[in-house]
Amino acid sequence: MSTLEIDRVRKAYGQLEVLKEVSISIGTGDFLVLLGPSGCGKSTLLNMIAGLETITGGEIRIAGKTVNHLSPKDRDIAMVFQSYALYPTMTVRQNIEFGMKIRRIARADRDKAVKTASDLLQITHLLNRKPSQLSGGQRQRVAMGRAIVREPKLFLFDEPLSNLDAKLRVDMRTEIKRLHARLGTTIVYVTHDQIEAMTLATRVAVMKDGVVQQLGDPQAVYDRPANVYVARFVGSPA
Ligand code: ADP
Ligand code: MG
Repeated sequence: MSTLEIDRVRKAYGQLEVLKEVSISIGTGDFLVLLGPSGCGKSTLLNMIAGLETITGGEIRIAGKTVNHLSPKDRDIAMVFQSYALYPTMTVRQNIEFGMKIRRIARADRDKAVKTASDLLQITHLLNRKPSQLSGGQRQRVAMGRAIVREPKLFLFDEPLSNLDAKLRVDMRTEIKRLHARLGTTIVYVTHDQIEAMTLATRVAVMKDGVVQQLGDPQAVYDRPANVYVARFVGSPA
């Protein structure tokens, strides 16, 4: 069974069609990258998977269940954004465990989950700090920690590294790859960065103007681009 099925999904804002019958299926443990230039509809699609945008047409299924009309909290997902959106008055620990507190998870279980996630992300020494006392990369780790402790079926990332400087971006890319390998989670990751897409993805969907131009494993897309647009965008040799 597919963990995520995007089935002929459409999105229109009034007359403006921003997604046109997009269909993508991925299995458990896949790392799907939605790759394309600014404005091609990547975030819109991710937000529809998350339940933050309504669906104009088609169906989205997570673990076989149609989620079109489910609110974000009922979808078994966790999302990491480009802006870190941490609670500024809370410590790192409080930020990470906030969602578990709301779901009334017992103290001992919360402590265990925070420890596992913070060890994995190497932020254990930062647990008592406030977000303002952290670097950009550390904040992004905290945001990931907050997602990990929820143990969702699906992780959604929207350009999580685009606010970081080049060196840190490469480090965090490695970190995300390691996390994916360690946790075996299913990820949908939005980026306009070809190298990021090619190094992270097990499946890549190259998008243009609300249409998936090609879906495949990154090596195949690079070696055998479906058209000139894909070849140019992923930098295939001519
Ligand atoms: P990407 O994430 O690939 O940069 P987006 O999904 O943010 O692209 O946007 C896709 C298109 O939809 C863009 O043309 C954008 O202007 C348009 N769009 C996004 N949100 C809205 C909205 N709330 N109302 C109208 N148009 C929107
Ligand atoms: Mg976007």
